[in-house]
Formats: sequence, C-alpha cells, structure tokens
Amino acid sequence: MGLIMHGSALDPDDARLYIDHVYEHGITQFLHIWNRMKTRHSDEFLWGDEIEYMILSYDDTERRANLSLRQIEVLEALPKVFEDIRTRSPDKAALLPSFHEEFGRYMIEGIPAFPLTDSVSDLLSVESKMRYRRDVVQRVLKPNERLFTLTAFPRLGAPGVFTDPHYEPTGDYSYFLPVEILGPKIQYLAMNDLLVRRRPGKVVINVPIFFDTNTPRPFVDPTIPQGVRESLKNVLKDDHILLDAHAFGGGCCCLQVTSQASDASQGRRLYDAFAPIAPIMLALTAASPVWKGYLTDVDSRWGILTDCSDERTEEERGLKPLSKSKYRIPKSRWAGISSYISDTPDNKREYSDTTMPYNEQVYNRLLSNGVDELLAVHIARMYIREPITIMTDMLHQDDENSAAHFESIHATNWQSVRFKIPPPGSSIGWRVEFRSMEVQLTDFENAAFSVFMILLSRAITALDTNFYIPISKVDLNMVRAQRRSAVTEEKFWFRKSVLSTNAPSSSQDRAPEQEHEEMSVDEIINGKGKTFPGLLGLVYVYLGTLDIEPVEMDKLKVYLDLVKGRANGSLMTVATWMRNFIRSHPAYAHDSVVNEEINYDLIKALDQIERGILRAEDLLPAGYPAATADCRS
Ligand code: ADP
Ligand code: MG
Ligand code: MG
Ligand code: MG
Ligand code: MG
Ligand code: MG
Repeated sequence: MGLIMHGSALDPDDARLYIDHVYEHGITQFLHIWNRMKTRHSDEFLWGDEIEYMILSYDDTERRANLSLRQIEVLEALPKVFEDIRTRSPDKAALLPSFHEEFGRYMIEGIPAFPLTDSVSDLLSVESKMRYRRDVVQRVLKPNERLFTLTAFPRLGAPGVFTDPHYEPTGDYSYFLPVEILGPKIQYLAMNDLLVRRRPGKVVINVPIFFDTNTPRPFVDPTIPQGVRESLKNVLKDDHILLDAHAFGGGCCCLQVTSQASDASQGRRLYDAFAPIAPIMLALTAASPVWKGYLTDVDSRWGILTDCSDERTEEERGLKPLSKSKYRIPKSRWAGISSYISDTPDNKREYSDTTMPYNEQVYNRLLSNGVDELLAVHIARMYIREPITIMTDMLHQDDENSAAHFESIHATNWQSVRFKIPPPGSSIGWRVEFRSMEVQLTDFENAAFSVFMILLSRAITALDTNFYIPISKVDLNMVRAQRRSAVTEEKFWFRKSVLSTNAPSSSQDRAPEQEHEEMSVDEIINGKGKTFPGLLGLVYVYLGTLDIEPVEMDKLKVYLDLVKGRANGSLMTVATWMRNFIRSHPAYAHDSVVNEEINYDLIKALDQIERGILRAEDLLPAGYPAATADCRS
C-alpha cells in the first residue's frame, strides 16, 4: 500500500559515513532550487491546513477509552471509500481529502483536497471541508471507534490498559509505552535509535504535577519502577511526573497551517512575523493538561516535544567539554526559531540575539553561491544536526530534480515556523508553515483558528506590520505559554508599535528595549489602549479594506469571536475545560490522578461536544454548533 517506506535504512554505523554525502547533496539540491526560484514572483496566496487525528475505541463493558492501533487498516480502507464516493457522487470527487500515516499507530493526518485561496468564500468553506474529512474517516471505523482531534491522550503511558489491543511495555523502548504504539514508518523507530545512540539512557521529560488538595507533597511519581528510580535519581525531579520516550510528544496531534507567499522575500517576512505569534497561539489553543494519567501544571504539548526530541549529546548540551561533538547546541531539535531571516530594514541584527552554532562549511558554500547571509545562516544552522535516517535506495538522487537530501535535514528541524522551499518539478512556490497550534476538539474551532491565522497573514502583508522582538524574548514567551492557564494568567513580551518602521509616520530611532513590553494574551489579541490595535484589530483593519457582504462578515465574525473569547477569558481553552471536567468528576479524589473511569467519561463528553449533542457554552460560543454548521453527515 505504499505505507511502508521502500528500501531500508542504513544501519547507524554505515549512516555515519554518509552524513557528509547527505549534507553535500542536500545543499546542492537547495542551490538548484534557489537559483531557479529566487526570482520567482507573483504567486497566488494559497493556503492549507493539516489536522492530526487519533482513533479511539470504547470498551463500554470496562468503561475504558483506548487508543485504537488501527492506523494501517484505516488508511488501507480509505481508497475503497473514495472509490465509492467517486462512483456515487462524482461532484464530490474533487473534494476528497488525503490522509497519511503519522507517528503513533493510532494517528493519521489529513489535509484538504487542494489548497484554498484567501477569498471569503474559501475561508468560509473550511469548516465544512474539515467536517467532511472527519466524516470520511469515520465511515471506515468500527462501531465502537471514533475519530478525535485530541492533542494528547490523557492516559497515554498510564498504568493498566490504554491501547486496543493491549501490549505491555517491556522497558526497552519505554517503561510506560509499548513499542507497538509506533507507526510502521522506518523514520519513527529511527528517531528513537538516534536518541539512544546520541545520549546515555532514555530521554527524560519531567512534567510538573498539578497540586490539588489531596496530591501528596512532595510528589514522587509512583509509576516509575523502583530500580529505574534509583538509576535516574540525578535527573528526576520531585513534584514531577516522568515521561521517557519520544512517543509521548510524537504521539501528540496538532493543527498546522501553510501559506504560500507571492515570493521568497514576502515568505521571509511572514516567517519572521509568525515567530513571535507562535507562543501566543500556543497559549490560546492549549489543549493538553493531562499526561500519563495525571493532571499537570502544563496546558500544552510544546515543551514535551522539545524534551522528547532532544537528541543532543552530552557534549552538545554543554554537560561535558567538546571532544567528539563539534558544537555546543543550546536548543533541542524541536524548538522555536533561532534567527530572523527577512531582509526588511525592520529586521535589526540585535533581534536575533540568541546564540546558535551553524555549519561553517555549509554557510560558506551558500554564500559563495550567491545566497545572502541571513538565509545562509538559517540553513547552515540546520546542518549541525544528523539526518535521522538514510535510506539505502535514496542515497543517489538527481540533485537538479530532487530535494530529498535537503529535506532529510530541513524537515527534521522541527521549529515553531518553517520556511518551506518550492518542491522541484511542481508549481508550488515559497511557503511558510505555522506549527505551534494545538489541535482543537471541534472542526468549528480548528476552522476558526485557521481562518484567524490566514487573515492575520494577509493583514501582515497588506498592512506591512512589524512584530520584531528579540528572539530571547520569544523563547521566554514559549516557556510561559505552556503553563497552566497561561492564556489568562501569563504575560508575554510583545512589540508595542506593530506598524513597520519603514512606514513614514512611525519613529525610526526608538531604543530596542523600549520597543516591547509584557502584555496579556487579551491585550495582544484584542488590543490595548489607543495605539495597540491587537492582532484581531489588525485583522479587522484588513477586512475593512475588502468588499465583504454583511452576511459573510457575520460568519467570519463567529470565528473571530471564538479567538476573541478565548483570549479575553470569556471562553475557556480546551485545556481548562478538560481540567475543570476532571476536577468536578465524582470519581476524582483531588489527588491529580485521572483514572480510567474519569478518562472514559471525559472522552465521552468530548465526543458528545464534538457531535453537538452536549452543549459546553463555556468552551464554545452560544449557538454552537448551529452558528456555522451546514453539512454534518
Ligand atoms: P508537511 O507535512 O510537509 O507540512 P503536508 O503535505 O502534510 O506538508 O501539508 C501541506 C499543506 O499545505 C496542506 O494543507 C496543503 O493543502 C497545503 N498546500 C499545498 N500546496 C500549497 C501551496 N501551493 N500553497 C500553500 N499551501 C499549500
Ligand atoms: Mg503534514
Ligand atoms: Mg503531521
Ligand atoms: Mg506529530
Ligand atoms: Mg506540516
Ligand atoms: Mg516596509
């Protein structure tokens, strides 16, 4: 079925010999693309979302909700459904989405049939397209299975049963997760091999416990086997739970949006503008408060992904003097961006204020081939990481017509924002992917956040905004964004004056330290005082320049009101809603434990909200689902 990669991966010792080969050809491939595409311009604005799904199954006798490990069967069953749809309703044929495998064997990813434009009618079609996507998959599920858009499964790795079928963890891959949880793609196992090879022992992800009234103090994670606790005593933290495998993060679902810019330069501006927005959107979309069956003090997945993807050697992490490793690397492979890349005068050098090494050979080669310094650094920084896998049948490629070596490094540097290069041999241009959002429970919410991000992208370009703040502050914001109730409780560094300094009216020479201040998400989104319009304010200014029918405007407003309400606290995040549900469940002992029964009832409730059976007016606006729903099958 083409799900399993053809060819096999080189074993790690052989792969090591080919790293330089992958680097060299990757850069050759990039240079071919750059030289062909650097002057490409006037591409249409197009965009598309990616939604990651979990397949869950109910065991109603045991009152348990499980992860159903049926990724492969489900993906294999879909073509038949598509065939039927094409035969029976040819008008729908062009709308058929595509699905592909994802990290967890209970996960799939779906993308729309084709990218959309920024026309209001396209924006307003997204929700029904997302619903159609969900419904198509639901058709191949068993009666006791449901497709969910949950960021993290609350009892992944908890003692007892959490997968269907059940497998016992053996301790080889993880003390908490059976290796059977991984999808079959070679790359997923290879990521673990890379971690094992590059660092002693398993990854260590300490997640702070949420102290409820009966949570023991100090809290010691009772799920860690005794012998293991001994061996890890130097890295374990009191008052934290331990997660120990890449799958805890890789097994999370997110919502991503990719936008095509008119040219490389506009794409680079968008990339820079998105970077300071990424933490804000993480806080706004927070949806994952429960890990390994415990209520924690975080509301989102980001830091868990950062820690579980951290394949840096001890030398690279600065724990030992450099000898075998070449660089000290301050960031994990999954992290915020390391430098801004736009050549706008708004992008002052001092904003890229964090240190991050780069591969000098790659950098020099890019420079001597006409790539500018900012882009050269951006790329050379990714070339301090090893390829995760090298596939034997991919070793020798036609560098003029392939980007596979380039992407084997580029696409495995998992940043909050990605500047996507045009794939060779296609009509696709320069794109920017926004990657920090957590997937929401309903397609209404997923559509709302996608539409908001797309309108914001258009406003950024149309209004020539300037969101630059030092990257050290963006990094700080990312840490804050994950904390419990960050959206209402935390403050975030943000730029005070968001119109470009290239614009004649604004001051050129304000000192950088006066340029930004700490604001709440409410202020950042909904505005502050007379001079700071907020991101929604910018979106409305942009919408005001368009000619939009009042009915359409009303429909857009329903989406924008969700963002507004989540930001000002009048609506809860999914994380807060889940936390409150758990804390008021009769079986909850106020000890932070989310047992099977609570989890079952939580999942059922979320399911009912998604189906529109259960109202959750503190989560979704009054009137949902009728507000925008038009096509539930
Ligand atoms: P990846 O996993 O590499 O981020 P996917 O193929 O899963 O990429 O998703 C890419 C997204 O980009 C999809 O939503 C798709 O509709 C969208 N897309 C495809 N072509 C374009 C384009 N030319 N411009 C913008 N978005 C596009
Ligand atoms: Mg994808
Ligand atoms: Mg994905
Ligand atoms: Mg993922
Ligand atoms: Mg993506
Ligand atoms: Mg300008």
